[in-house]
Amino acid sequence: MNQQGILFLCATPIGNLEDITLRVLRILREVDLIAAEDTRHTRKLLAHYDIHTPMVSYREHNRRQMGRHLLNLLAAGLKVALVSDAGMPGISDPGEELVSLAIGRGIPVVPLPGPNAALTALVASGLPTSSFCFEGFLPTAAGARRRKLEELKGERRTIIFYEAPHRLLESLSDMVDIWGERQIAVARELTKKYEEIWRGTLPQAVEHFRLQSPRGEFTLVVAGAREGEVSDTRDESWLGLSLKEHVALLQARGMDKKEAIREVARQRGIPRREVYNQVVRDSGANS
Ligand code: SAM
Repeated sequence: MNQQGILFLCATPIGNLEDITLRVLRILREVDLIAAEDTRHTRKLLAHYDIHTPMVSYREHNRRQMGRHLLNLLAAGLKVALVSDAGMPGISDPGEELVSLAIGRGIPVVPLPGPNAALTALVASGLPTSSFCFEGFLPTAAGARRRKLEELKGERRTIIFYEAPHRLLESLSDMVDIWGERQIAVARELTKKYEEIWRGTLPQAVEHFRLQSPRGEFTLVVAGAREGEVSDTRDESWLGLSLKEHVALLQARGMDKKEAIREVARQRGIPRREVYNQVVRDSGANS
């Protein structure tokens, strides 16, 4: 066989079977083999679209052995489509390692975009989308989860998590303890019959999901830290100082007055004009 092997990364629906691109359907028909996270699950999708391509299982527990086998087939010139149970393979799903090994062996990797729970939840959250980070699943052990949330306390970007229904309340409660009052969008069963996007503050979310026990698949989109919160976690030496003293402190550390006013406003999360007015007014009164 002298044709070139190709690894196609195919996005599949996260619920609604209509959310699949024409190109993904064509590639799933044309490839020699589909490597699926769960062949029983993917068989339903293939049956719906009358696709009869052979499948093998490529999942977390056989990824070493099956990964080697797939690489050999790719190196021999086969075309292989990788799919997960839902959404983009490689995103909180198997795929990352196979892609990296294929690149290492000089095998072309072709991504076919499509559904993804994180981005679908983000765009409907109402929270800033210009800058965000994806954290996947929080650790399941309470201590590790709280440490992770502490680590993210100063994160300014919108933060996206996947969460299992039986851990939702614990995670939300830890977020309230560590992050306090922030906006959150809880996206449940996206693209499915019981799709719901709940929006409110973290404490309200705890109250809501205490009363309505969480069922289905959840993606959480949480507002990043506000400016004041970030500075609190980095430099608290100004706490207790007046605005004027705070500006003076930064000037003593080498900033000119304009820079110091800007930085005071940033650290306290207040308008620059407020700092400026107070500092200028005070110096006017002294002169
Ligand atoms: N690869 C997938 C993707 O691109 O979105 C994610 C796979 S990850 C193993 C599965 C998690 O994604 C679920 O536990 C849930 O947190 C989230 N998820 C998947 N489908 C969802 C849906 N329809 N609505 C909300 N969240 C969903």
